[in-house]
Amino acid sequence: MKLVFLGPPGSGKGTQAKLISEILKIQHISTGNLFRQLAEENNPLGLEARDKYWGKGNLVPDDITIKLLKERISKPDCKRGYILDGFPRTLAQAKALEKITEIDFAVFIYSYEKEILKRFENRVQCNTCNIVYGLGRTPKKPGFCDECHKKLVKREDDSKEILKQRLKVFYDNVNPIVKIYKERGILIEINGEQPIEKVKQEIINKMPLE
Ligand code: AMP
Repeated sequence: MKLVFLGPPGSGKGTQAKLISEILKIQHISTGNLFRQLAEENNPLGLEARDKYWGKGNLVPDDITIKLLKERISKPDCKRGYILDGFPRTLAQAKALEKITEIDFAVFIYSYEKEILKRFENRVQCNTCNIVYGLGRTPKKPGFCDECHKKLVKREDDSKEILKQRLKVFYDNVNPIVKIYKERGILIEINGEQPIEKVKQEIINKMPLE
């Protein structure tokens, strides 16, 4: 099973991608997490991507992102399938993905700007487990991850100014991508402005898994 999760920043797509990947026992692959991990490891590509692109709310160029994605999904742990979270983000990426493999479903989790800005005030995440808190999930001990107990951090690119740029970039690119999946009849649209459990259930209900 190969799925694509689309949605603006703050729609909860990462949280849902993680939950659904655990249910389906397939990999959750977030290109954003891949870039952040590379930067944390002081990898030159990761540092360049941060300083030039994601730190400013802009997209990393297609050639770099497609190469990174291709390498990741060719690993043995992806044999059973995967959920791509945050890829494709441009028409060129969507077309490249069509050539690499056949996607079963694209889940588009939508949310409106007012709700997104409200959610971002509280959003923090665990960089070890990649669990996001503040978008409908509250840590048991404030400021610490429920799973690994490490300190939760605010993402560098979650400031209001950078977030506005990220939203603009998202809306500038999303329509042609959505069109591809709609035309193929594999687009599932979900209202992300609902509690986490409800969104998850709706995704499961709308996805014919047999
Ligand atoms: P995310 O965690 O999905 O919000 O991604 C964080 C940042 O990583 C984005 O703002 C982009 O700069 C970069 N990024 C993640 N995925 C992609 C992609 N598919 N194409 C280009 N840049 C990406």
